[in-house]
Amino acid sequence: MLDCAIIGGGPAGLTAGLYATRGGLKNVSLFEMGVPGGQITKSSEIENYPGFFDSSKTGLDFMETWQKQCFHFGLKHEIKKVNSIEKMGEHFTIALESGDSVEAKTVIVSTGAVPRRANFKGEDEFYGRGVSTCATCDGFFYKDKPVTVLGGGDTALEEAFFLSNICSEVYVVHRRDTFRAAPPTLDRAVRKENIHLITDSVIEEAVGDAMGLSGVDIRNTKTDKITHMDNTGLFVFVGQDVKNDVLKDGNGDFICQMSDFGQVVVDLKMHTSVEGLFVAGDLRIDAPKQVVSAAGDGAIAALQVISHLQEQA
Ligand code: FAD
Ligand code: NAP
Repeated sequence: MLDCAIIGGGPAGLTAGLYATRGGLKNVSLFEMGVPGGQITKSSEIENYPGFFDSSKTGLDFMETWQKQCFHFGLKHEIKKVNSIEKMGEHFTIALESGDSVEAKTVIVSTGAVPRRANFKGEDEFYGRGVSTCATCDGFFYKDKPVTVLGGGDTALEEAFFLSNICSEVYVVHRRDTFRAAPPTLDRAVRKENIHLITDSVIEEAVGDAMGLSGVDIRNTKTDKITHMDNTGLFVFVGQDVKNDVLKDGNGDFICQMSDFGQVVVDLKMHTSVEGLFVAGDLRIDAPKQVVSAAGDGAIAALQVISHLQEQA
């Protein structure tokens, strides 16, 4: 029986593993279906993690030491995909894709939420090299430069507003002529003088070279006219895939309380509505979707696991 099973090895899961093992728990396993590190390993640069200031290092380089540090303190790593979690009596059963199952006294789920791709030409090629899904992370790279935002929902309009305080001009490209975003959010964007709405339009292609993205081709869907913009940044906000499948039971119902947007409801201690089940990182409600906050969540969740196990002893 594990003291704690951690599911997902991004910044939240790795930090939870570090705090749990250094906090004295002997039997802690991290279930991660791939190489630990999480979404940030897709980034070419990280500039906003406090204390880390080295533009020559990629997100992959950045996360390498996180793994080494965790495993040094006794965290076990299982390269396994988790299918589901079930609470049976006081304990949890974790069903793995392989068909095996594992018992644990507590569980921390940190499987993240991945930004959706829009599937235009060049999106994958320049992802993390000019095509971004995070204004907080990458907006500053385009200080006083023009940027393009793709999407017409609340996230796109809110992030466009955020970018408009950093960048010279923000061009919001949306495939329809009405917006999904809430009217007050849209109104605020319309009133901002450096936000420009380009409707009935899509990104035809992100173009660039070995140095990264240099511009975008925007196609008007009514006229098929293509306009090239020499923007240095393209921010894509076309929705999120919240990785919450492990929290569904056999009927497809969630085992804990969720928000309308598929995120897990937690309190400030990362407690879910199920005792002994904690959630950390991008998967939780109101997540700022940053490495630093995911790591903070992971530390909080692990400290709560330790307290929870002490109370049960
Ligand atoms: P994730 O990093 O998403 O990790 C979740 C992990 O869970 C993944 O490794 C996944 O493989 C695993 N997993 C999922 N489902 C299962 C399952 N069923 N079984 C086993 N394992 C599973 N943030 C910043 O602060 N600064 C930046 O500059 C920055 N730049 C970014 C650039 C890019 C290109 C991207 C994509 C994100 C960037 N972010 C940045 C955001 C940051 O990466 C995330 O906020 C952070 O990684 C969230 O951490 P997490 O641990 O909650 O989840
Ligand atoms: P969303 O509401 O699903 O909006 C996604 C947008 O991207 C839509 O405008 C959609 O166009 C567009 N889109 C989707 N796929 C595309 C593609 N392949 N190419 C071009 N455009 C594409 O996603 P979201 O904005 O991330 O919001 C998710 C949920 O969170 C929503 O319910 C939202 O209200 C909520 N949210 C709330 C707040 C808040 O309350 N402050 C803030 C952020 C998010 P169409 O409109 O044509 O479908």
